Formats: sequence, structure tokens, C-alpha cells
Amino acid sequence: MKKVLLFVVLFLLLQTAMAVEKPDVLSRTGWGCPDGNESPSWTQQYANVTHVIIHHTATPNTDTDWAARVLSIWNYHTYDNGWGDVGYNYLIDPNGIIYEGRAGGDDVVGGHASGHNTGTMGVAFIGTFSDTEPTDAALDSAESLLAWKLSQNGISPLENSTDYAGSNYANIAGHQDVSATECPGEDLYSLLPTIRQDVYEIIQGCPAGDADCDGAVSDFELLSYIDTWAVGGASDFELLAAIESWANQ
Ligand SMILES: [Zn+2]
Repeated sequence: MKKVLLFVVLFLLLQTAMAVEKPDVLSRTGWGCPDGNESPSWTQQYANVTHVIIHHTATPNTDTDWAARVLSIWNYHTYDNGWGDVGYNYLIDPNGIIYEGRAGGDDVVGGHASGHNTGTMGVAFIGTFSDTEPTDAALDSAESLLAWKLSQNGISPLENSTDYAGSNYANIAGHQDVSATECPGEDLYSLLPTIRQDVYEIIQGCPAGDADCDGAVSDFELLSYIDTWAVGGASDFELLAAIESWANQ
């Protein structure tokens, strides 16, 4: 019985994922949105997020005033497309600044992936990434944002699931996974496996019994982890002996 308990406790400890804090996000008033935190012509709807969909904005990488670019995208979506607000939930510039997109806060339904907007968080890298990769700063910010949202809702970064529309695809997907589009550009799309793995590692808070974050726990890692967690100063030998004698009682 005690053996079973011991393994249950260890299993739970190793499965425990950290709740990841939300990274700093520049508010709509912060980037100069004319409607501030409101979107008068687009009534908010809410749904628990099940997927993140990655986009690029297909705008010039030579921009220098990124807040101005966010404003111009807002104008385009709001007035040219007639949506009443910007479609993405978040936008990220090459310096790693995260901009709040669609008004309404957490879990608000955006307009970024036709037919798949409910329950999907749209995150757009500002620029064009068909034959160039985003900056490390942008990737780091995106991964922090994704780790926060996925850990909040207990979503695995490495798995697929079915969205509200009944389509099954990766929990971290590219726009082209749900629509006929080149978005988010091939060079960004090909980074999605790396992004998923990085987000997984952030959520796991490595090293927590899995120092190389490969999903496997070696005896050595397990011993170090138990040692740190339970006993502090005991040697591995003492700890093993203690566990053995306790489990055999
Ligand atoms: Zn897109």
C-alpha cells in the first residue's frame, strides 16, 4: 500500500505543471487605439480558449514605428474590412512588445481565422515571415504568452484537439492549418514544432525531475528531485535506503 502511495505521490509531483504568469501586454490605450478599451461596433463574445492560432500580419519587416503599424492594422480591420475592431487577440513586434488586440480582455472571441474564431486565441507576429524568421525577442514573447494561456486552461502544447467548430488540429497551430492561406509564412510555420516544445518546457518549469525537458525522467534526475523536495541534505544513498525501508514495511 505504501509503495503504491509513494508512486502516486511521485507521479503527481512530476506531473505538476507550473501556472505561468501572463507576460506584460501593452494595452489598447497604450498603443493609441482610438476606441480605447471599447469596440462599439463589435459586441464581445467569450469562449474558453482551446487552441492558439499563429499569424503574421504580412506587413513590411522594414517598419520602425511598430505601434503605428498596429494602429494601421486596427484601421484596416475596423474600417476597410468593416469588422468594427482588430481581428487578432494579440500582436507581437520584433522587439518582443506584445500589443492587446481585440477589445474585451481574456477569452474574448476575435476575428482572425474564418469559421474557427470561437475558442481560438489569434496571435500575430508583425511582419512577413515567408522567407525570414521572426526575431528571438518576438519568439520569446510569443512563447511566454502561449505558456500563460495554455497553462491557465490545462492545454497541452504538444497535442491536437477538436475545436468548437469540430475540426481537429494542433493546439498550437498556424493559420494555414485551418484556412487556405500562406499565413503565417513558411519560415514562421516551420518554427511551430520548436515553439510547441519551448512552451511545453516553460509550463513544465524544467528542471522538475526532467532536467532536459524531454518528457523522460532518469533515475538520477528522479533522485535529485526527491532529494531536493523531501529531505534536503540526505545523500542519495541514505535517501534510497530510507525509501526502501519505508516502502517495505
Ligand atoms: Zn493569418
